[in-house]
Amino acid sequence: MPARTGAEYINGLKDRPREVWIDGERVKDVTTHPALKNGVKSVAALYDMQHDPGLREEMTFASPSSGDAVGLSFLVPRTVEDLERRRLMMTRWAQASCGMMGRSPDFLNIIFSAWAGASGYFAQDRPEFQQNVEDYHDFIRENDVALTHALVNLQRRRTTNATDTLSEEVALTLVKETDAGIVVKGSRVLATLGPISDEIAIYPVASHRLADDDGRQSFSFSIPCDTPGVKFLCRESFDLGRSHFNHPLGSRFEEMDSVVFFDNVFVPWERVFLLGNVELCNGYAMGTSSDAHTGHQVLTRCLAKAEFMLGLSDLIVDTLGSGTIPHVQEQVAELITQRDTLWSCLRASEADASPNRWGVMSPALAPLRAGRTIFGRSMYPLMVEIVQMLGTSSLMALPAEADFGTDIADEIHQYMATDTTSARDRARLFHLAWDASCSSFSGRQVLYERMFGGNPVRNSLNLYNNYDKEPFKQRVREFLELEDDGL
Ligand SMILES: Cc1cc2nc3c(=O)[nH]c(=O)nc-3n(C[C@H](O)[C@H](O)[C@H](O)COP(=O)(O)OP(=O)(O)OC[C@H]3O[C@@H](n4cnc5c(N)ncnc54)[C@H](O)[C@@H]3O)c2cc1C
Repeated sequence: MPARTGAEYINGLKDRPREVWIDGERVKDVTTHPALKNGVKSVAALYDMQHDPGLREEMTFASPSSGDAVGLSFLVPRTVEDLERRRLMMTRWAQASCGMMGRSPDFLNIIFSAWAGASGYFAQDRPEFQQNVEDYHDFIRENDVALTHALVNLQRRRTTNATDTLSEEVALTLVKETDAGIVVKGSRVLATLGPISDEIAIYPVASHRLADDDGRQSFSFSIPCDTPGVKFLCRESFDLGRSHFNHPLGSRFEEMDSVVFFDNVFVPWERVFLLGNVELCNGYAMGTSSDAHTGHQVLTRCLAKAEFMLGLSDLIVDTLGSGTIPHVQEQVAELITQRDTLWSCLRASEADASPNRWGVMSPALAPLRAGRTIFGRSMYPLMVEIVQMLGTSSLMALPAEADFGTDIADEIHQYMATDTTSARDRARLFHLAWDASCSSFSGRQVLYERMFGGNPVRNSLNLYNNYDKEPFKQRVREFLELEDDGL
């Protein structure tokens, strides 16, 4: 089947109602519920881009099995040109949401494509899992499936251990194996896009290593979101039901985060990719290069987001006429430097790409890891702060769309225009700036960038413990041991 249209994605969600709870209510139809419907529309628009005559060539490739035009994020890259071509496609999708939808479907398509290319990794314990991974990749590619994932177990308490303290009463745990498959019970966080995806993938995450005795929590599988016993519990929606003028981001890009409960959920064998092997579960990201491929998608989106924040900031400066003020120029220059840093990391990952042991062309991990770490930890929070500092009171002196149709409109037009911009255009821009820097939608964006890639503290500990620092220390030792040559 060729790449799906937006209507096909929406109909797929309607045809397979899943158990979704939000604010005390069981959602009947995620495509029409006010908390979710606009996020659905935005994902549907991404699928429609694959059918835009001007974009189709850029967004799709010929399926190796059917020959149909399928989404390019399902490509298993074999050359650097494949990586660059895939980046252009991902850029289109990232720019469509201003970088605000972290879980556009390419995110997980790319992971499964990396796994399919490295399917031998999954055969190491049970040979049949290799075929399962390959068949599943064929299935999601030919049906253009939208996936979510939930990788972190809920915990009753935290420790400083490198591994979590998993309780079988809370963590997602194997209940039994049968001739037909496995049964699992427990909970996971957080499935972003969960309620509006077709399937949910479950696998471990590098930042939460499994302990030797966590065999019953060690697995990788993927099942439809409407599988009996799968329950999504949503946070409050940041789509407040307001107009695009008043709430330009939240009214479009609500990708919804959810806790997932599994009540004795059956997973057929053909959907199981790893089971019971702690070492393979802990090692898959490096063993298949899927972390590098994910990083490539993530940094492509971060770049689109950084460019959006830069453009927004400079429009604020133009609107307020503040462009001659030195510290304003310095703040925008900071955004330019951040944007260029991300671009450099992304391009370096492609320039230094190399085939992995499975023959899949894989971007270099180091520049991607560096880019995504600093983006979440310091760049994005600073971008938000700069928009606040540039916008100041204009983020609050903000007429709503409806105010322009009232008796006070004359005053608004007279007093709120600037030398360059009408009052209405100023209000439109600053609603966007507010939604990008002050609203609940924007707060969640900062949290997302900090956290979605796993616990940042644990990621840093992994980096410290696994990075080869020896060559640099050796250089210092050699310098210290230099003979006094009188210089
Ligand atoms: C908006 C958002 C969207 C997300 N989307 C997804 C998604 O789609 N899929 C998915 O799988 N996950 C997703 N995540 C979850 C993300 O992977 C986790 O939030 C992240 O791994 C941190 O885990 P935690 O929230 O359980 O942290 P907690 O364990 O609750 O950490 C609480 C605090 O304790 C510290 N801490 C806890 N244990 C340790 C330790 N052993 N060593 C050092 N410090 C420790 C942490 O640093 C933190 O300060 C999302 C998170 C957010 C915020």
